[in-house]
Amino acid sequence: MKITEIHVYQVDLPLAEGRYTWSDGRHVDVFDSTVVELVTDGELRGYGEVCPLGPFYLPAYGAGARAGIGELAHHIIGLDPTNLGQINGVMDTALLGHPYVKSAIDMACWDLLGKSAGKPVCDLLGGRQGESVELYRAISQRPADEMAQNVALYRDQGYRRFQLKVGGDAAADIARIRAASEVLVAGETLVADANTGWLVADAIRVVNAVADLDVYIEQPCISYEHSLTVRRQTRLPFILDENIDGLHALLAAYQDLAMDAINLKISKVGGLTKARLIRDLCVSLQIPMTIEDSWGGDIITSAIAHLAHSTPERFRFSSTDFNSYVTVRNAIGAPQRDNGHMKASSEPGLGVTPDFDNLGEAVAIYRE
Ligand code: MG
Repeated sequence: MKITEIHVYQVDLPLAEGRYTWSDGRHVDVFDSTVVELVTDGELRGYGEVCPLGPFYLPAYGAGARAGIGELAHHIIGLDPTNLGQINGVMDTALLGHPYVKSAIDMACWDLLGKSAGKPVCDLLGGRQGESVELYRAISQRPADEMAQNVALYRDQGYRRFQLKVGGDAAADIARIRAASEVLVAGETLVADANTGWLVADAIRVVNAVADLDVYIEQPCISYEHSLTVRRQTRLPFILDENIDGLHALLAAYQDLAMDAINLKISKVGGLTKARLIRDLCVSLQIPMTIEDSWGGDIITSAIAHLAHSTPERFRFSSTDFNSYVTVRNAIGAPQRDNGHMKASSEPGLGVTPDFDNLGEAVAIYRE
């Protein structure tokens, strides 16, 4: 099999809640998602998606994804999409860095590998483990009482894991964490994710003020060194996310005992191939993971489900179902949340069919 054409689609994904807000007042109302279609010389077509969390979360943005795919297109047309090692090697040689650009292409190649093998991607990523994948719900940053109400609202939808978006004013964040903690019931998990928004002193104030609570602290500061400083001054369990952007960062952080869990996002590390490598290493090192992506629609939600469902349950801290946060469907067949859980599709590949009514015409087509 070889890739003969690459079609690129752009789709807006409005947020059902209207606005998603996290640290420093950063917010997104409509997500700019990019879908890649790999056309082959046979019957099969493969699909992948990349959807940055706005242009100011990671070094990634929607138009950048599409420009980068254009940069890579002529390097990968003609290659065998099921040869993931070659595809990734060629992409890394042709374009230094820019992992998010490569993610949708790599994801589409996994879709083709699964379709050609007649197996769901989770079977090829290590094999399905357990009945289903437990989900968390991100609680957008709002006043403390509203965030506590939203915890209760999403509990009613089946979630038992909640990730509070903090990373604002320290006193306000302490109130947010306390208010949410008060409405928790037994068996629920609370994470306070600052998304790099605190200075060290802010973070120390917060972790000291909530030291009596059962809460995880995620990614307090923008630099690894500052986050490590906070880590060493708190006894609360600690997650790193933005700083763990690849294998080298993971190894350094492991050596420093810098975290108890990581957040593994598919596009942050360059696609399913590299995410699997980091996932497997985390399993070997006994580091639990939130397995997800920066954002996405149905295709990314499906890819998350395959990666998470093929991970040993003990090391799955949580995952999320981005397709339930947005109001536009970009594919049919993606996992649908059921009582706070989702399952990877049993169909070959990612198990999704693009919804071309919503994708519209391709914004770019590359050919041999
Ligand atoms: Mg995070």
